[in-house]
Amino acid sequence: MRKDPDTAVVVQIGRGPTGTALARQLLPGLPAGSRYVVIDRDPAATHLAFGTPEPTHLLNTRAAKSALNLGDPEELQRWLTEQSSATGEPVAEFPSRAAFGRYLRDVFDQAVKQAAAAGVVVDLLQDEAVGITGGPGDWQVRCASGQSYRAERVAICVGMLAQTDPFPELVGRPGYFGDPWRLPELPADARVAVLGTRLTAIDVGLTLAARGHTGPVLLASRSGRLPRLRGPETTAPVPHVDRCLRAAADAGTLRLEDFGRALMADIEAASAEPPDWSQVRDCGPTTRAMLAAELAEVEAGTERGWQQVVNGASPLLLPAWQLLAEADRAEFFAEWLTPLLVHGAPIPPETARRVLDAMDAGRLRVLGGLYHVVADDTGFELFAEDHVRRADVVINATGAGTDEAALRTEPLLAALLDAGLLTAHPLGGVRIDVSTFEPLDGAGTPVRGIHVVGDLNRGAVLVTNDVIALSFQAALAATAMRAKNEAGVHIS
Ligand SMILES: Cc1cc2nc3c(=O)[nH]c(=O)nc-3n(C[C@H](O)[C@H](O)[C@H](O)COP(=O)(O)OP(=O)(O)OC[C@H]3O[C@@H](n4cnc5c(N)ncnc54)[C@H](O)[C@@H]3O)c2cc1C
Repeated sequence: MRKDPDTAVVVQIGRGPTGTALARQLLPGLPAGSRYVVIDRDPAATHLAFGTPEPTHLLNTRAAKSALNLGDPEELQRWLTEQSSATGEPVAEFPSRAAFGRYLRDVFDQAVKQAAAAGVVVDLLQDEAVGITGGPGDWQVRCASGQSYRAERVAICVGMLAQTDPFPELVGRPGYFGDPWRLPELPADARVAVLGTRLTAIDVGLTLAARGHTGPVLLASRSGRLPRLRGPETTAPVPHVDRCLRAAADAGTLRLEDFGRALMADIEAASAEPPDWSQVRDCGPTTRAMLAAELAEVEAGTERGWQQVVNGASPLLLPAWQLLAEADRAEFFAEWLTPLLVHGAPIPPETARRVLDAMDAGRLRVLGGLYHVVADDTGFELFAEDHVRRADVVINATGAGTDEAALRTEPLLAALLDAGLLTAHPLGGVRIDVSTFEPLDGAGTPVRGIHVVGDLNRGAVLVTNDVIALSFQAALAATAMRAKNEAGVHIS
């Protein structure tokens, strides 16, 4: 029996894809009269990924593979088809991220409507959570407005952190922009250097192209590698990886070297030609010729063994990560994270075609080996291993930070770190108990009744950068939240 009608069963902070997936899992199980509070500082949830109005910013996963509903993979495709019959526009294989943002809002609104019909009170609040106090069973979430909300449980779904500046001495220099999502108008002929060569950097290049920017745009990073292209969604069997994980589960630990060998054996078995392993880590910056060749391959529908194995093995990454020893996880982050992101977060062929067009028009180039950027009186100098390049404008598009300094840029997370309710994970984000998604305090004890879901769990679960992985996390967290815990608090 609930004691205090003002105490919410859950206060959820954040209603991006993760918060939406969590709410739609939890709301249907709540008894009539329960209160569920959702706090988001952006009422329309026009957050980074899916708030972009730019039509060339596409979902990098196919619509058929991106439904925010593990039990109904066709949901997004159906939603797009309904929209298409209303607007007359064809259903895109890779829809715009703005369209996905609208789908997200519809899904959330629908979940709230159904909960309201079942007598659950859902409060949607525009506010910024800045602190959490109290203890198991009676948490208080404090907001910037001065309001406070009591809850049996708190779900922290605050998404990716702000970017960190790779060259902090550039911050505040005229012509340096640390936020790639809020670009001011730039002189159309400015020489622009974008720091980063992955998804965010490509977004910046596409935004500038859409604005009719005529000056040269340079995407620059240490690796100089653009993401690979998303080919067919077919999967290859991964018997070596399966065997390796079974043996590791029996032994209670997995060696990175064994996992790597098993993955290579499966890729070799799935490939028509013996793979060139030197290409995985050390192939150098992506050239126009490399991009054109891969685009031709994907447009021809060629099956690529490595991608089929990545598709087949990706559901196994979470259990594999849990079995890896701490030192091997650190080695993975140091040595293999870039190859994983390059191969595991590929771009749609249409995006690659736009990049190639910009390269062919002489408007876009890629630079590898970047190690330093210096500001002077007339602009910036970029130092790479073999080149020095000049730019009038530098835009940081290196992606979200995950270390403790990045956590502390968020007032809520800084307060929770100071209060000892969160501790930084050495590989990024915060430490959690992976069976309940509860954060670990300084003594390694789970903080009962607080749950962290999303990119903050990067160090703990590795894959947190796509909506399917986030839905999966939300489903696991919801299961844990429904279960009665040691403090005897339960939500349904
Ligand atoms: C540019 C970009 C493109 C991406 N493209 C894709 C893609 O194509 N396909 C894919 O599968 N994945 C993509 N991702 C990865 C991932 O799916 C997204 O980052 C996704 O938005 C993460 O969802 P989230 O709900 O965890 O975080 P977010 O979407 O960031 O939502 C977090 C919410 O929490 C709110 N919030 C944060 N702090 C507070 C606070 N203190 N108080 C109140 N509210 C708060 C924010 O306002 C926000 O609405 C992309 C990521 C980025 C950055």
